[in-house]
Amino acid sequence: MHPRIILATLNAKFIHASLGLRYLLANMQRYGGEDLYQHTVLQEFTIQRSPEDIVDALLAQCSPANSLAVQIIGFGVYIWNVQQTGQVIALLKAQRPDVKIVLGGPEVSHELEDQPLVTSADFVITGWGDVSFPQLCRALVHGPKPLMKVIAGVQPPLDELAFPYAHYSDNDLAQRVLYVEASRGCPFKCEFCLSALDKTAWAFNLDVFISELDALYLRGARTYKFVDRTFNLKIDASVRILEFFLERLAAKPLEPLFVHFELVPDQLPERLKECITKFPEGVLQFEVGIQSLNPAVQLAISRKQDNAKTQANVQWLTQKTHAHLHADLIFGLPGESWESFAKGFDTLWSWGPHEIQLGVLKRLRGTPLAIKARPHMVFHTEPPYAVLHTDALTNEEVQAFTRLARYWDLVANSGRFGRGIKLLLQAPSAFAAFSNFAIYLWQQCGATSGLTPEVLVDQLFNFLVQERGMTASLVREALLADYMASGARAMPNCLKGYLHRPDTPLGKIGTNHSKRQQRHVSEPLS
Ligand code: SF4
Repeated sequence: MHPRIILATLNAKFIHASLGLRYLLANMQRYGGEDLYQHTVLQEFTIQRSPEDIVDALLAQCSPANSLAVQIIGFGVYIWNVQQTGQVIALLKAQRPDVKIVLGGPEVSHELEDQPLVTSADFVITGWGDVSFPQLCRALVHGPKPLMKVIAGVQPPLDELAFPYAHYSDNDLAQRVLYVEASRGCPFKCEFCLSALDKTAWAFNLDVFISELDALYLRGARTYKFVDRTFNLKIDASVRILEFFLERLAAKPLEPLFVHFELVPDQLPERLKECITKFPEGVLQFEVGIQSLNPAVQLAISRKQDNAKTQANVQWLTQKTHAHLHADLIFGLPGESWESFAKGFDTLWSWGPHEIQLGVLKRLRGTPLAIKARPHMVFHTEPPYAVLHTDALTNEEVQAFTRLARYWDLVANSGRFGRGIKLLLQAPSAFAAFSNFAIYLWQQCGATSGLTPEVLVDQLFNFLVQERGMTASLVREALLADYMASGARAMPNCLKGYLHRPDTPLGKIGTNHSKRQQRHVSEPLS
């Protein structure tokens, strides 16, 4: 009987195609052998799907219970799926105790003792699984039987790994974000981050990697997300990769292309800048981890960041290039108070990034932050292990910030309120202004989800007019323009009677809509 091997994971969203599973599949051929590779399948789910459904789908792929074939299911476990994966494994084991369950991924690479998920699995591979998973499968099928339940993943030189990109299907290319990596690891040691455990950063052979990118491009791939922790570490490689995309743009200027990179903010030498300026609008997106602009906090988490260079580079990127810039801040880092975070936010906001992504500190297993004794830092014990309070922040402040961050996504990062946000975020403190609005919104709605664009328009209107004393006509004009530009076509109360009036600035657009469109009710924003 043939063995059957299923590579499975639960992605956060359908558009995320798992890079890790595709590495395992590619290296099954190299390290597990052709016979195992031929009987290995990849099955991706999303966390929204019920555990029962997932188990049914997995069992439908399994060899029959009474067959002699070895049945193996490997799960990629991450912070976003650990709970659901645990439920899936419990159900699976109840129905098919003979199926060998193998776990891998960051969530099961550290602090294994207290995890029920680990108890119910047969094997766990910590760290890199590219080589060790195929080897384990080989041992389970052909012997000798492995002696240890927990296997430390082998970390080979990157040149010895098979590339995964051929395992993106044509559907993946057409519908999903394609994750790619030119390097793994990070040389920096920020204590909250799992990459702090890497000894350094390792680069893939650039010529071979570029030819893999080319193969993807020739198959029609147009959306690439680089998962390199620090894309701008080795400038020669960064320039070469950017030039690869510039050449494709020059050859097919009308073809859409979108490429996302993560940058360290204080390193942008001239050569790299020159290259970045050549890209037209809509192609490049940079995510720049700022995390904190407080030097004492940076010191407390061993983050080396030159704030002056960071400022110069963020401003240069926003003012002199067409790149879309996301800047990340983390709330709850050791020593960061509400006031110091607010100061950092205001400074960053004044530099003009297109989006500020607000995150709450999480205790990631195995990081220096998790291991170091900091009795004043208390985290939730359930995923995503968010901070509850610190010596500088109360529970109430963390809760208030969590709501604020959610509202920030809906109002600022959604891009739906370009003009409204300018009215809202005014001196002396953009953070204080938004925080007041977040308190108001929470008092009015008592919810951070299920809010439609129309509710947000009305609440922003009421806040600006009633609480901030702005002129109704000024606010209405800004919100009307935002609302029409967003493409929504229902009817916020504050715009009733204005949305379709020919004498309003956008009334002409409004008059073109059919009755059916006017009655349309918008979905809540997610
Ligand atoms: S936060 Fe960024 S720079 Fe710091 S260790 Fe993690 S990946 Fe490296």
